[in-house]
Amino acid sequence: MIQLENVSVRYEDTVALHPVSLGIHEGQFTVLLGSSGAGKSTFLRCLNLMHSRISGRVRVSGFDGNWNRKALQKLRRETGMIFQQHQLIERQSALQNVLMGRFGYHSVLRSLFPLSEAEQKLGLQSLKRVGLLDKALCRVDQLSGGQQQRVGIARVLAQQPKTILADEPVASLDPATADEVLELLHSICREDGISAVVSLHQVDLARKYADRIIGLAGGRVVFDGVPETLTEAGIEE
Ligand code: ADP
Ligand code: ADP
Repeated sequence: MIQLENVSVRYEDTVALHPVSLGIHEGQFTVLLGSSGAGKSTFLRCLNLMHSRISGRVRVSGFDGNWNRKALQKLRRETGMIFQQHQLIERQSALQNVLMGRFGYHSVLRSLFPLSEAEQKLGLQSLKRVGLLDKALCRVDQLSGGQQQRVGIARVLAQQPKTILADEPVASLDPATADEVLELLHSICREDGISAVVSLHQVDLARKYADRIIGLAGGRVVFDGVPETLTEAGIEE
């Protein structure tokens, strides 16, 4: 579904990602496992061409490989991003945050462009999926960390993505909440047939949820396989 061909990323004196060639498969829950600085964010941002320093070729099915502005826009609409710091707009409600992911900041903030009933329904449905329908009108800065990350998931769902890329989505949560949020993300992706690539540094969570683990260390792929075969080499503590 996404093919990396000899893809690498370098800064002046650092190779953030050594040349890598591999494919990300449709419908799978792929975990990028590695410690801080291993190259997880860099790798993720190659998958939707969000990095300005990519060498090599990224091919995505449904696109002919000509990455003009229009193709990039389409790719980003089809690819939902979830971040560690969830990047919500603090003073806005959960619902407004969810709708902004789909319809853009200005269309929601300005009452000049009120959203249709269908659009609002999509936002509410997304919040319902993550169990936060009753918090739709709460300001997100009044929600717990786990709830905020679930709003982040709802925001991505409202985008109706084919693929979700999540960069350390549970890194700032306590272990129990981290497990809950990842369980939710995992089950939604499975139910909706969404392909996911999720970066994590927790080996136990990777083992529990991944269909496939790609282990990164020092910007290199050091492991690529099913969780059952994860070796010490794939784990850089
Ligand atoms: P991770 O997400 O696993 O923490 P990153 O992909 O953020 O890793 O970083 C991989 C490597 O690239 C690190 O060594 C990091 O220091 C380096 N790097 C990332 N961004 C920059 C930058 N803007 N300038 C120089 N080096 C960078
Ligand atoms: P990161 O987010 O990991 O730091 P980016 O690729 O976003 O990496 O770039 C970090 C900084 O380097 C940004 O300020 C960006 O404008 C600048 N930068 C990125 N790519 C180039 C490039 N090819 N030439 C010059 N500056 C660049």
